[in-house]
Amino acid sequence: MRWQGQTIDDADDAALPGLENRTGIVRSVTTPEFAGMTFHEVLARSALNKVPGGSRMPFSWTINPYRGCSHACVYCFARGTHEYLDLDGGGDFDSQIVVKTNVAEVLAKELRRGSWQHESVALGTNTDPYQRAEGRYKLMPGIIRTLAESGTPFSILTKGTLIRRDIPLLVEAAKSVPIDIQMSIAMYDDALQRSIEPGTPSTQARLDTVRALADAGFRVGVFLMPILPHLTDSVAAVDHALQRIGETGADHVIYGALHLRAGVKSWFMQWLQREHPELISSYRGLYPGAAADAPKPYRQWLAKRVRPLIRAHGLDARHSDEAYPARRLTRPASARAAVAAPPVPTLF
Ligand code: SF4
Repeated sequence: MRWQGQTIDDADDAALPGLENRTGIVRSVTTPEFAGMTFHEVLARSALNKVPGGSRMPFSWTINPYRGCSHACVYCFARGTHEYLDLDGGGDFDSQIVVKTNVAEVLAKELRRGSWQHESVALGTNTDPYQRAEGRYKLMPGIIRTLAESGTPFSILTKGTLIRRDIPLLVEAAKSVPIDIQMSIAMYDDALQRSIEPGTPSTQARLDTVRALADAGFRVGVFLMPILPHLTDSVAAVDHALQRIGETGADHVIYGALHLRAGVKSWFMQWLQREHPELISSYRGLYPGAAADAPKPYRQWLAKRVRPLIRAHGLDARHSDEAYPARRLTRPASARAAVAAPPVPTLF
């Protein structure tokens, strides 16, 4: 996606230092509250993105109110997408955030169309809707209200504890539509978490958020992924993670090994060289050349290790590659029953 494709053409060039060639940006903002970051406010032409036909994803549409993500996970799949904006997939992805300030209004128009089929919409499959910018722009309440009022089921995948702000709104929305919520928590060693996910809330803060959502009546899934070869895949590490997840009231765990597609691999390997140079040759062997997935034998070995541990902790186990059957979502007790399919992860 290019800047021109997602914005209207009323740019104020004087307000766009360094971005004069990108039509459609309303203004670029820096503020002491978000030091080191620039928000590029745009007026989006569309809010809903169609998932390509033939995709194995159990949702047909996505919404991404932001492009780029201050959570800054070194392994983030979406880094390569920033290059479509003529920005880089490294530091620019973490600090140059595109904000679709009118996303809720555009969404409302799209959902009013007679052709809208009320298919499930996924939030958080490309960049995190509860990243730091959401504290400033507050786009999610409008999106949640708009989806619920139109009778459109939706899912949210996030690492952001800011979702707690919206729990009352989500509880209210769940009276009208099925809502599926997943929290991504992959690192249970605090030093590793700060190093590889430097912009995210702490692991404990995210676990506390799962508890708050479960207490509000949601059946919350935890993404235990990516699992990092030689760093987080030992029995002791996985067992420790699952014990902490189990204490939150989470319903199920979705696990998967590290995926390193083009656009993120070199960024990740720079981090590995800096933090764990002893693992470089092992990772080159696991992810040679353009290979994005760990070899099948490793993934099978990981499944044999992780699945029994998940069950031992009383949780339901899913692999990121599995297609999910439709199932009933747990909703606040006051909400009516509904059926929907939870999202297959695309990003975390
Ligand atoms: S993995 Fe998710 S939370 Fe982390 S940087 Fe990417 S979009 Fe943000």
